[in-house]
Order: sequence, then C-alpha cells, then structure tokens
Amino acid sequence: MGSGIAGLTFALKAARYAKVLIITKKEQAESNTNYAQGGIASVISSDDSYKLHIKDTLETGAGLSHLDAVEQIVKNGPHLINELIKLGVNFSRSNGKLELGMEGGHSRNRIVHAKDLTGKEVERALLFNVSKNKNIAILEHHTAIDLITEHNLIRKKKNNYTSCYGAYVFDELNEKIITVISKLCVICTGGVGQVYLHTTNPAIATGDGIAIGYRAGCKIGNMEFVQFHPTSLYENKPEDQNSQAFLISEALRGAGAILKTRSGEDFMHKYDARGSLAPRDIAARAIDNEMKKSGDEYVYLDAAQLKEKDIKNEFPNIYKKCLSKGINMLKDMIPVVPSAHYMCGGIVSDLNGKTSLNRLYVLGEASMTGVHGANRLASNSLLEALVFADKAAKQCRAELASSKHVKTENIPEWDSSGTENTEEWVLISQNRNEIKQVMSNYVGIVRSNLRLNRALRRIKLIKSEIETFYKKTRISRELLELRNMAQVSYLIIHSALLRRESRGLHYSTDYPKLNKKYLKDTIITNFTVK
Ligand SMILES: Cc1cc2nc3c(=O)[nH]c(=O)nc-3n(C[C@H](O)[C@H](O)[C@H](O)COP(=O)(O)OP(=O)(O)OC[C@H]3O[C@@H](n4cnc5c(N)ncnc54)[C@H](O)[C@@H]3O)c2cc1C
Repeated sequence: MGSGIAGLTFALKAARYAKVLIITKKEQAESNTNYAQGGIASVISSDDSYKLHIKDTLETGAGLSHLDAVEQIVKNGPHLINELIKLGVNFSRSNGKLELGMEGGHSRNRIVHAKDLTGKEVERALLFNVSKNKNIAILEHHTAIDLITEHNLIRKKKNNYTSCYGAYVFDELNEKIITVISKLCVICTGGVGQVYLHTTNPAIATGDGIAIGYRAGCKIGNMEFVQFHPTSLYENKPEDQNSQAFLISEALRGAGAILKTRSGEDFMHKYDARGSLAPRDIAARAIDNEMKKSGDEYVYLDAAQLKEKDIKNEFPNIYKKCLSKGINMLKDMIPVVPSAHYMCGGIVSDLNGKTSLNRLYVLGEASMTGVHGANRLASNSLLEALVFADKAAKQCRAELASSKHVKTENIPEWDSSGTENTEEWVLISQNRNEIKQVMSNYVGIVRSNLRLNRALRRIKLIKSEIETFYKKTRISRELLELRNMAQVSYLIIHSALLRRESRGLHYSTDYPKLNKKYLKDTIITNFTVK
C-alpha cells in the first residue's frame, strides 16, 4: 500500500521473486517522498564515520532511539545510495564526486541530494524502473480501507487478531470496493501531517496506514512525537482544507541562512549554542516562543548573505517559489513559520519491517522502527525507508519460501448493505476542519494537560460522530480519510497524555523536564486503549 520511496523500493526488490500489486491513493507520484528537498543522510565523506552518524542520530533521538535500528540504517546507507544511483537517480555532484550537504543536528556534511528536489528525482527514477518491471502492477486512485484479519473470517470480534490476509480497497474512479487477497501485505502509506492546519505534507498524508494497522490490532508506538519543521514559507492566505505549506529546506540554514525576528535580531543563540543550526525541535520551539512573545505571525530566515550563484545552483526551487511570491531571497528575508512535518511514531516494526501481525509488514513514515526515538535527525527518513525496504524484501523472500498454504476461501466480500450516498458533504468538511483546529491549537509544539484533555474530549466526540456517519454512508475517499484522521489524532493525544515529561519533540508545560521513568517507548494497541 503506497507508492512513495518505501513502497516502490520494496516492490522493486520483491519483484525479483514474487508478483507485487501496488495500490496507491492518488496519482502514483503523489507522496511525501515527491516533496522531499534536502536529501538522504549517508556516510560518504572521508572525514565522516558510522560512529559519528550513529552518535548524531542518537543525540537527536533524545534517549529513545534504538541503537540496533540506528546501526542498520547508518551502515546500510552507502551501498543503498549506490543502488539508487544504479537505478538512475541523478544526485548533485561537483568534480564528479557526490555533493554532500549539511543540515541541523549533523556533525559532518553527509546529505546526498539532487539540488533541492531530491524526493522528486528519487520518485521519478523508482517509478521509471517500476514501469518497466513485468512483475509489478500499480492501481492508482485505490484507497485501502481496512485489513482483512480473522475478524473478517470468523465474523466476530476476538480480542486478538494474529494474521493479515489482504485488504479491502476502494476503487475511487469506479466507485466500488474490491477484495485484495495477498500472501504478504506491506503498509507504506506515509505520514499524518494533514491532521494539522499548517503542514508541509501533501493531501495524501492522512495517517491511513497507521489507523488501519491500529484497527487491525497492531502495536502502535511513540505517536506523541510529531516533528514540526521550523521553516515553512508563511503565506498570508486563508488555509484551504488540504493545503500544503511550502518547505524552506533546512539545507538553507546549513548553507548559512540565519533565523531572525522581524526586528532583525538573530535570536537562536539565546536558545542553543548551535544557533540557527540547532536541531528542529529546538528551532521550532524557539520560533514558537518568539512568535508568542512578539505576537508576530512569523519570523524571518535571512539568506541574503549567501552568494547569488550558490542560491541559484543549490536552491533553484526555493528561489523560484519565493520569487513567485514577490520575495527575492538574494536581498529580502523570507517569512517562515513552523509546520507539522514528520511522524516519528507509527506501527511498531522489528528490524525487518515486520509488524506484530503475521504476514503484515510496515515501512517508511508509517512505521516505528526505533530509529528516530523522540526526534528525527534531518534526512534520516528517506534513508530509513530505503534500508528497511531492503531488509523487509529479504525477510519476505524467506517467509514466502517457508510459509504454508493460507486458506482464503472464507473471506467475505465487503458488505455495504444499509449504506447510502451522502449529500451531507458539509459534515465531512466541517469535521475535517475541526480536527485540524483542535490538533493545531491544543496538540502542537507546546502542550499541557489542560490542552491535551480538552483535545481528547473534542476528538472523542468528533470520532464517535464520524463512526455513526460512516456506518450509514457509502464509502468515499474523503470519508475514509476523515475517519483515519480522527483515529490518528486520537492516538497522538492519547500517547501525549501518557508521556508525563518533556523529551525530544514532546514538550509539556506541566512536565518541562526529562524523567527517567519515561525512558521507554509509548506502545498502545486497539485492545489497551478505550
Ligand atoms: C516537504 C517535505 C520535505 C521532506 N524532506 C526530506 C528530506 O530532505 N530528507 C528526508 O529524509 N525526508 C524528508 N521528508 C520526509 C520524507 O519525505 C518522508 O518521510 C518519506 O518520503 C516517506 O516515504 P513513504 O514511502 O513512507 O511515504 P510517502 O512518500 O508519503 O508515500 C505514501 C504513499 O501511500 C499512499 N497512500 C496513503 N494512504 C493510502 C491508502 N489508504 N491506500 C493506498 N495508498 C495510500 C500515498 O498516496 C503515497 O503514495 C520530507 C517530507 C516533506 C513533506
């Protein structure tokens, strides 16, 4: 499920020994991957080492990153970057060597990139290879609804499901629901940014896979750790419901751009010795604090001291976008605000991408592998997706070779009796908006018990309204997304309430300090949360 870096990489590898069906919600390229700017972190330079990359990742993860998972991504990075190059990805080079960018939290230049459009280039090359592969089929505009588990087979609710047999999928163009039965199923559905008003994520990022996994009984971990990117372009326009904020890549700060208040003060040194290159959580909280203090709706990023040729060569996309908004970054400062950007938590997986359900895997942003802990180091997420897709493909090969025949005769078709087409679109759009408001106002960068409990009450109500409506209404993609957004919002709030400390991306005014008692992942399941 999903055609971003995780789904496509897995598909290409699994297609060496099996037939792969990719279902994807919109057009095949539409994914978070397609918008990634900065690049992929990897130890390439002679002054760098695995040890340093591991150290930077663990430090950013604020005590919760799993060493074994971090070692996996760091040590497998270089050869998988080479594989991408062999697949045709054109990374930026100077004098024939890979150009290595710098980003916040990294102690060395190690960001392999394709100018400031890395994701688009990776997605292009992967899709091109997929299109030539006879063992892979892609169904666009197909949205996964729910997994098929024992629940569907025996038609009664057990308190523990153990296996996945496939999924029910909504074919949007033909408005019908199909049953996809598969020997193995891999959730690669990306992040959850759309539950917030300001997000760098595209409209597809509604947390579907995580909600689907949760409903099927998977373990879900660390949902409280939502990364807000400190710098997205501030635009003075009313938010449309699915809007995506334009990201001003951290690589620009890596190249020397400085965060400033509207009055021109370089404020970051008050918060962190690394100044504007502090990790994202620190930068986002500092900006949030400066904005609250001054009442301003944004701060500035000043890149005017960079060389014109560097800006035009390294950041052509950002330069063009700013110009289209009347901002000439060669001389004007860029107005920026923090936006929801990345979900560190997700469906818990082992070191091979396997979930707690048999025959079900999870990869990429929808997963919680243990790499990111309480905070993600910039450009580690594309790397994580690459590495775990590679490992899962190997594990799946072994699993297919040893698995017994699975009985699938009893799987029922989707039952839509008792449902009707809706004219009440306003209910869907209103609920969607409410969720975004609640999450942005009460479950954002700075949290408190009061805000979280208020958010929990609101989301519970919205969720139960949606469930009632869902049972009576013909499936549409919008309705499925709304149901999933309410579900993942609930998981974020619930997890945030369980963590009574401030760590990494989770900051609570009631518990402003680290507490050793909470040096552990927040794990919940459908059967433990009421
Ligand atoms: C603006 C931006 C810049 C970024 N920059 C970087 C960077 O420089 N470096 C870095 O490492 N990371 C970066 N990230 C994060 C990184 O891009 C993502 O974490 C990564 O691309 C996730 O890949 P994925 O394959 O897991 O998910 P995605 O690429 O989001 O793909 C998810 C896929 O699942 C599909 N899907 C969703 N729901 C369903 C459903 N119900 N049924 C069927 N299909 C579904 C979607 O349509 C999509 O095809 C950035 C993210 C953004 C938004």
